[in-house]
Amino acid sequence: MEDLELVERASWLELYRRKSDGSYWRLTAAEKYEQRFLIRIENVQGWSSFDSAPLERQLLLERRGGLGKEACITQGCGQPVVLGSAFCLEHTYERGVRK
Ligand SMILES: [Zn+2]
Repeated sequence: MEDLELVERASWLELYRRKSDGSYWRLTAAEKYEQRFLIRIENVQGWSSFDSAPLERQLLLERRGGLGKEACITQGCGQPVVLGSAFCLEHTYERGVRK
Protein backbone atom coordinates (compact mmCIF):
# COMPACT_ATOMS: atom_id res chain seq x y z
CA MET A 1 0.00 0.00 0.00
CA GLU A 2 2.91 2.40 0.48
CA ASP A 3 3.36 2.32 -3.27
CA LEU A 4 -0.15 3.72 -3.77
CA GLU A 5 -1.06 7.37 -3.45
CA LEU A 6 -4.62 8.57 -3.06
CA VAL A 7 -5.63 10.72 -6.01
CA GLU A 8 -9.33 11.28 -5.55
CA ARG A 9 -12.37 10.22 -3.56
CA ALA A 10 -15.91 9.86 -4.88
CA SER A 11 -18.56 8.84 -2.35
CA TRP A 12 -17.41 5.39 -1.24
CA LEU A 13 -14.74 4.91 -3.86
CA GLU A 14 -11.09 5.87 -3.78
CA LEU A 15 -8.80 6.29 -6.75
CA TYR A 16 -5.15 5.45 -6.22
CA ARG A 17 -2.13 5.85 -8.39
CA ARG A 18 0.65 3.35 -8.16
CA LYS A 19 3.92 5.25 -8.07
CA SER A 20 6.11 2.51 -9.51
CA ASP A 21 4.32 2.13 -12.85
CA GLY A 22 1.75 4.97 -12.94
CA SER A 23 -1.21 2.60 -13.12
CA TYR A 24 -4.52 3.59 -11.55
CA TRP A 25 -6.48 1.49 -9.09
CA ARG A 26 -9.88 1.88 -7.58
CA LEU A 27 -10.63 0.73 -4.08
CA THR A 28 -13.94 0.65 -2.24
CA ALA A 29 -13.76 2.69 0.96
CA ALA A 30 -13.27 0.67 4.13
CA GLU A 31 -16.58 1.79 5.64
CA LYS A 32 -18.70 0.58 2.72
CA TYR A 33 -18.21 -3.17 2.83
CA GLU A 34 -16.29 -5.58 5.01
CA GLN A 35 -14.49 -6.72 1.93
CA ARG A 36 -12.58 -4.10 -0.05
CA PHE A 37 -12.24 -4.42 -3.77
CA LEU A 38 -9.21 -3.29 -5.67
CA ILE A 39 -9.58 -3.11 -9.41
CA ARG A 40 -7.31 -1.73 -12.04
CA ILE A 41 -8.67 1.31 -13.87
CA GLU A 42 -7.64 1.72 -17.49
CA ASN A 43 -9.62 4.86 -18.19
CA VAL A 44 -9.19 7.38 -15.39
CA GLN A 45 -11.86 9.71 -16.72
CA GLY A 46 -14.74 7.44 -15.87
CA TRP A 47 -13.08 5.81 -12.90
CA SER A 48 -15.92 6.24 -10.42
CA SER A 49 -18.66 4.97 -12.73
CA PHE A 50 -17.01 1.76 -13.87
CA ASP A 51 -19.31 -1.09 -12.91
CA SER A 52 -17.44 -3.66 -10.89
CA ALA A 53 -20.58 -5.54 -9.83
CA PRO A 54 -20.12 -8.49 -12.23
CA LEU A 55 -16.57 -8.93 -10.95
CA GLU A 56 -17.67 -8.72 -7.33
CA ARG A 57 -20.47 -11.23 -7.90
CA GLN A 58 -18.04 -13.66 -9.50
CA LEU A 59 -15.67 -13.29 -6.56
CA LEU A 60 -18.48 -13.80 -4.09
CA LEU A 61 -19.49 -17.00 -5.84
CA GLU A 62 -15.93 -18.33 -5.82
CA ARG A 63 -15.51 -17.54 -2.12
CA ARG A 64 -18.69 -19.40 -1.26
CA GLY A 65 -17.62 -22.41 -3.28
CA GLY A 66 -20.33 -22.33 -5.95
CA LEU A 67 -24.06 -22.94 -6.08
CA GLY A 68 -26.23 -25.16 -3.90
CA LYS A 69 -29.16 -27.38 -4.88
CA GLU A 70 -31.92 -25.33 -3.25
CA ALA A 71 -33.78 -22.52 -4.94
CA CYS A 72 -33.51 -18.89 -3.85
CA ILE A 73 -36.19 -17.96 -1.30
CA THR A 74 -36.93 -14.65 -2.97
CA GLN A 75 -40.46 -14.82 -4.31
CA GLY A 76 -40.58 -15.51 -8.01
CA CYS A 77 -36.83 -16.04 -8.36
CA GLY A 78 -36.11 -19.78 -8.35
CA GLN A 79 -32.41 -19.43 -9.18
CA PRO A 80 -30.05 -21.84 -7.39
CA VAL A 81 -28.74 -20.56 -4.08
CA VAL A 82 -25.14 -19.63 -3.34
CA LEU A 83 -23.64 -22.16 -0.91
CA GLY A 84 -24.23 -21.07 2.66
CA SER A 85 -26.95 -18.62 1.64
CA ALA A 86 -30.72 -18.82 1.28
CA PHE A 87 -30.46 -16.60 -1.77
CA CYS A 88 -29.17 -16.87 -5.31
CA LEU A 89 -26.07 -14.96 -6.34
CA GLU A 90 -28.01 -11.94 -7.57
CA HIS A 91 -30.10 -11.67 -4.43
CA THR A 92 -27.23 -12.41 -2.07
CA TYR A 93 -25.33 -9.60 -3.74
CA GLU A 94 -28.32 -7.27 -3.59
CA ARG A 95 -28.44 -7.69 0.16
CA GLY A 96 -24.98 -6.19 0.42
CA VAL A 97 -23.09 -9.43 1.01
CA ARG A 98 -19.66 -9.37 -0.57
CA LYS A 99 -17.93 -12.43 0.75
ZN1 LIG B 1 -32.84 -14.97 -6.18
